[in-house]
Amino acid sequence: MWRLLTRVCPRVTGSQALAGLRGLSLKTSPELKVCIVGSGPAGFYTAHHLLKYRESAVVDIYEKLPVPFGLVRFGVAPDHPEVKNVINAFTQTAHHDRCSFYGNVNVGKDVSIEELKQAYHAVVLTYGAEANRTLGIPGENLLGVYSAKTFVGWYNGLPENRKLNPELSSETAIILGHGNVALDIARILLSPIDSLRKTDIAAHALEAIAASKVKRILLVGRRGPLQVAFTIKELREMINLPDTCPLLHPSDFEGLKHIVKDLPRPRKRLTELMMKAALEKPSGKEAERRATACKEWGLQFLRSPLEVIPSNNGKRVAGIRLSVNKLEGLGESAKFVQTEDVEDLECGLMLSSIGYKSYPIDPSVPFDQQQGIIPNNLGRVLHAPGLYCSGWVKRGPTGVIVTTMHDGFETAESVLEDARLGALDVSASKGGFQIMEALLKKRGVHPVSFSGWQKIDNVEVANGKKAGKPREKLLDVQEMIEVANQ
Ligand code: FAD
Ligand code: NAP
Repeated sequence: MWRLLTRVCPRVTGSQALAGLRGLSLKTSPELKVCIVGSGPAGFYTAHHLLKYRESAVVDIYEKLPVPFGLVRFGVAPDHPEVKNVINAFTQTAHHDRCSFYGNVNVGKDVSIEELKQAYHAVVLTYGAEANRTLGIPGENLLGVYSAKTFVGWYNGLPENRKLNPELSSETAIILGHGNVALDIARILLSPIDSLRKTDIAAHALEAIAASKVKRILLVGRRGPLQVAFTIKELREMINLPDTCPLLHPSDFEGLKHIVKDLPRPRKRLTELMMKAALEKPSGKEAERRATACKEWGLQFLRSPLEVIPSNNGKRVAGIRLSVNKLEGLGESAKFVQTEDVEDLECGLMLSSIGYKSYPIDPSVPFDQQQGIIPNNLGRVLHAPGLYCSGWVKRGPTGVIVTTMHDGFETAESVLEDARLGALDVSASKGGFQIMEALLKKRGVHPVSFSGWQKIDNVEVANGKKAGKPREKLLDVQEMIEVANQ
């Protein structure tokens, strides 16, 4: 069909043809002014799709921080620079002549959603999941207990976490959760410091990790080896981490030998890798590597946190009390059931990596507290015409950047379809940023443009160069704004 259209009408380009097919575009269609709240992957991919498939779409992206890219900047591990290459594509989108970026605008505080709705035909909420799930157990707030979100923010230079100053003076750390964030944290804590020096890890974190005494990390999950949430690439990296030795109990895996062949392929390969590390005796160089390793890490299964055990003075974490669980059901959906048995483990550092969480930013927007998402149908916020959502705030805090990309495209399609079919009224023109600019000025808020961000970027890259790193992030919002305004 696509080919047919381009052949009949040879001067139509591929994307125009596709857009035409979707009944969208072209320049004759009325202007569609869209505001996007949040500049992570969901924001940029939604913007990209809108701009690509509707030539009359104008997109303004509002971001709370003076700097863009959300978790690509503040979540993705510093030793995974290749993942951050998506920033190049986002930068291209930001440079599109119908796209603008307004950083340093905290939607819900500086402007309300209602005000944005007045100024734009459509508002797309892509503000992610900025809180963390809590354990809800005694002792969770003791010194030495941190959420993964805070700890990741600390080593990635998130302004609000820069002063965390975590306690890294004990040899044993426990990480609760068997997801990729848990593995990221374990890897960063155990990596050879010289390899971290070449990354964009925040200088304060590099210094603290260089002095860290942590040499043993136990990752505790409430279910079994067939239910872990981390993926094979991240596990392999952990197994091969220089100067570390994996400690996996053979007894956790022996019963799986007859099941593994029937598992779906990704789960099968992941389980086989865990079984290999647990059950096969290493030989040659690998045996030597493990024997001489100074640090170790392990996976503990079927344990749920019950209580953080305080130190003698009652102030710090000294350990954790876990319930011993059993599983009910099979496969990925198997449920854990606590037994009467408990187990105490000692540790001086505890990180709770049990997932992020979204919260409502404006009382006028429907929010499902139970699921921690904005209730929606293909990105259309329920009972709120003109309002859309995408990314983690739309479907919950799971999924990699590619998942978020598809999600952004899906929401953009919903906006375009509604504009095309009349569900979104685009007959009257909207003031867009002109209106917001006046409002923000009155409120003393000064947005940072994309060129302002690029000044920050230049300073960070230059500072990084001096230290032999790709960048040294600015940590202070005020300083970022000053650099952007130079
Ligand atoms: P976010 O990336 O969180 O973006 C939300 C944006 O909204 C932020 O910029 C935020 O500042 C802004 N915002 C929040 N509130 C407001 C407000 N009130 N007003 C204006 N703006 C606001 N995926 C991979 O593929 N590879 C990885 O290696 C990887 N590593 C990860 C590591 C960690 C620690 C985490 C947590 C996730 C990782 N992911 C990774 C997953 C990936 O980061 C997510 O899929 C993706 O970032 C979700 O995109 P989002 O746009 O929904 O949210
Ligand atoms: P996640 O993948 O959802 O893992 C959360 C873990 O916490 C699971 O093991 C879960 O166990 C456990 N958990 C949840 N509630 C718990 C509780 N109350 N008590 C004990 N354990 C509990 O979340 P994440 O690790 O934060 O990662 C978020 C997303 O980002 C994922 O999609 C991940 O793949 C992605 N990410 C990707 C990369 C990468 O590609 N390198 C890196 C980081 C993050 P149950 O399974 O039993 O619920």
